[in-house]
Amino acid sequence: MRKICVVTNGRADYSHLKTLLEELKKRSDVQVTVVPTGMHLLSSYGHTIDDIVKDGFDIGYRVFMEVDGRVLSTMTKSTGLGIIEFSSYFENFRPDIVVVQGDRFEAFAATAAASMMNIHVAHVGGGEVTGTIDEHLRHAMTKLSHFHFPCDEDSKKRIIAMGERPEHVFNTGGPASDLLLRTPTCTFPELKKRLDPYVKKKEWLRDLDEDFFLVIHHPVTTEFEAVHAEIEGLLSGLKKFPNKVMLLWPNIDAGAEKIVKLLKDFERYEDSKVGILSHVPVEDFVNVMRHCRIMIGNSSSGVREACYFGTPVVNVGNRQEGRRISENVLSVAGTEAAVAGAIQKHLDKPRTYTPEYMYGGGDAGKQISDILATIELGSPQKRLVSDIKY
Ligand code: UDP
Repeated sequence: MRKICVVTNGRADYSHLKTLLEELKKRSDVQVTVVPTGMHLLSSYGHTIDDIVKDGFDIGYRVFMEVDGRVLSTMTKSTGLGIIEFSSYFENFRPDIVVVQGDRFEAFAATAAASMMNIHVAHVGGGEVTGTIDEHLRHAMTKLSHFHFPCDEDSKKRIIAMGERPEHVFNTGGPASDLLLRTPTCTFPELKKRLDPYVKKKEWLRDLDEDFFLVIHHPVTTEFEAVHAEIEGLLSGLKKFPNKVMLLWPNIDAGAEKIVKLLKDFERYEDSKVGILSHVPVEDFVNVMRHCRIMIGNSSSGVREACYFGTPVVNVGNRQEGRRISENVLSVAGTEAAVAGAIQKHLDKPRTYTPEYMYGGGDAGKQISDILATIELGSPQKRLVSDIKY
């Protein structure tokens, strides 16, 4: 039986792997194990491994790899620790295929370990273009992987242009689209009930109405020093409006500590207006995106997912620069004037834009699982496919 190991580091990639895991689990010709790492294992990030267990997946191993500090050198050391830990697990479990998603350093560590141990790597979500260190790691992961599952045609072309074998590059759409399209809409009062366990400030939740802003802003590691000014600009822009604000915790990348401090100060200052949540399970998050008035920040969910519901988005700074966007997204610099101006522009327009399904049509998990279960593995040796004759 083919052994497939799926690595996940937090909410950001679990939403892109969940339907694939469901499909793999249904098959009798595959043994699938999940290896949670990174933020999944930390209570300050919501201990989201609990969501994986609740969803009924087998946990193969827990890879603790995050060195505290949230600066560039600790993020790099964490990557090194990840390579050591993943290699021990792979040595013992001996998977035929390791599945990784996206562009985070935890996934890069698993990819490097598997590739160096002659294990085939399947990469979901390669070929996209963005800012921050994610851009470097995503393309490096492509070059270390054997099978590629990009979410759109442009990404497929870029992967092939990077010298990967065209017959191993499949534009299946992204598995996150499966969840976006299948999750039933719940009413706003129902959503508030569902959010209750994740919210400390109960009176804030009680008074929350559908004009709230959803804010997620992560560090940009290649602009490590500038993050302070950018988040300050964003928060000052928010102060210009009476709308309630739902703030979600940023990821663990270098620079996160500064962001968290500013978010906490903002919450203290704007007490009844602001609620901070570490995370919400993905199906509830889908409904948060559906119901909020505007999404603001630099989360990939703003540019890749809000378009499925036509939710207005203010995309702040360079983190998502290069990604395909639809008309619901206004991209601006992280200054008070730019952020407030874009918010006002959205408020002056109808509540939603025409929905667009830009990153998948809702059956990616099934397509990827069928390919992973049946594709001939062959030699793990990779070769550059190139038109250039030497
Ligand atoms: N997400 C989630 N719960 C949350 C926030 C986000 O399930 O509380 C999902 C979201 O739908 C998206 C993914 O996490 O698919 C990425 O969001 P995030 O902003 O955390 O990370 P990014 O991709 O920008 O690094």
